[in-house]
Amino acid sequence: MSEDTIFGKIARGEADAKIVYEDDQCLAFRDMFPAAPMHILVIPRKPIPRLCDAEETDAALLGHMMLVANKVAEQEGLGDKFRLVINNGAGAGQSVFHLHMHIIGGRDLSWPPG
Ligand code: IMP
Repeated sequence: MSEDTIFGKIARGEADAKIVYEDDQCLAFRDMFPAAPMHILVIPRKPIPRLCDAEETDAALLGHMMLVANKVAEQEGLGDKFRLVINNGAGAGQSVFHLHMHIIGGRDLSWPPG
């Protein structure tokens, strides 16, 4: 499983993305194929392939990503109506193997997801 993905390139500034937030630990950018009117991805700068590859030492980083998702949702005017999704592994729909959290909103969201 290669660590150098398109998201790694975006994190290093080597590929374009519509970035809406960034700090020293992570960044958030618009999904290229949005599944909802608002679809943003939060990624860590550290190239963790899947959530299940995260370690105890990543705990603060993972928590930070969730707080960044809150900040981005507020920035995008979503109020309290948004969903966070992490697809872990190919069988669960993960297609880019650099950990990312989807922020989805801007429409009614049904449950359970497919
Ligand atoms: P996954 O299926 O959970 O791995 O999600 C990957 C997401 O990345 C999908 O929603 C894609 O539309 C999105 N995506 C793939 N390549 C790019 C890109 O270069 N820029 C922005 N979004 C991308």
